[in-house]
Amino acid sequence: MKWRGRQQSSNVNDQRGQSGGMRGRNIALGGGGLGLVIAMVMFLLTGDPGALMNPGAVVQQPPAQQQTYQATELEEELFQYAGVVLKEVEDTWNTIFPTVGRQYKEPTMTIYSGYVNTGCGAADSGVGPFYCTLDQNIYIDLSFYNTLVSRYGAKQGDFSMAYVIAHEAGHHVQTLLGVTDQLNELRQRVARGTMTQTEFNDYSIRYELQADYLAGVVARHIHEKGNLEQGDMQEAMSAAAAVGDDAIQKKAQGYVDPDTFNHGTSQQRQTWFKKGFDAGDLSDWDTFSASIW
Ligand SMILES: [Zn+2]
Repeated sequence: MKWRGRQQSSNVNDQRGQSGGMRGRNIALGGGGLGLVIAMVMFLLTGDPGALMNPGAVVQQPPAQQQTYQATELEEELFQYAGVVLKEVEDTWNTIFPTVGRQYKEPTMTIYSGYVNTGCGAADSGVGPFYCTLDQNIYIDLSFYNTLVSRYGAKQGDFSMAYVIAHEAGHHVQTLLGVTDQLNELRQRVARGTMTQTEFNDYSIRYELQADYLAGVVARHIHEKGNLEQGDMQEAMSAAAAVGDDAIQKKAQGYVDPDTFNHGTSQQRQTWFKKGFDAGDLSDWDTFSASIW
């Protein structure tokens, strides 16, 4: 993506090197007596957010460090890049929302290193990029780029991170348009015993594929403005495949268990990202009534 010298979002919050300030805080996700214990408030790029919602869980104590954060040159570039991507995300949804009679409220994005305190509790970078619905903020430790390439096997290239940011920003769109609330209602059925976890996982996959679709819409917008470069789409498609449930499970445990999928397979994630790119708007975004299997 063409990004050097281009305008960055003003909604980026740089918290790199500030992880010492939140020692000993709980991942009190869904706490606060609001009956949100079973609500999903954090949406991760991979894995089951439910696993993070044990009220008793405590994040590992970060080392007490107050030294100045020293970003590598690559990290600094990624930081600038992420700011331009977020600006593209804002432009995309500021354009599309009025066409469906809505006004877009821009999310914020926190770039952190190691540990971060969020509206959804404390988190460490091991959880990967995520969106917190309670503070409508995207959280990313840029070292995730290395994880994406070396652990998940995504193709090297900047646009894989654009896909990641646009996917998390997709959860923000879903939150503004009420889809996240609907998913939370379904989640509560699991807690009440009127829906099985496996049944719910199908909805979770549809929700995640919708975020991939929305990421595709942003990619299309970048393309329309002439800022997509050769190889960008392949990088995004490779990243989407790398974070597929089947790919991750195969790498982690050597076999796949479709009943536990919650984000969709590599193939599904690519398909819906591409659908979003092809449509370029919300016309084809209904993953809940579409046939996805
Ligand atoms: Zn997601």
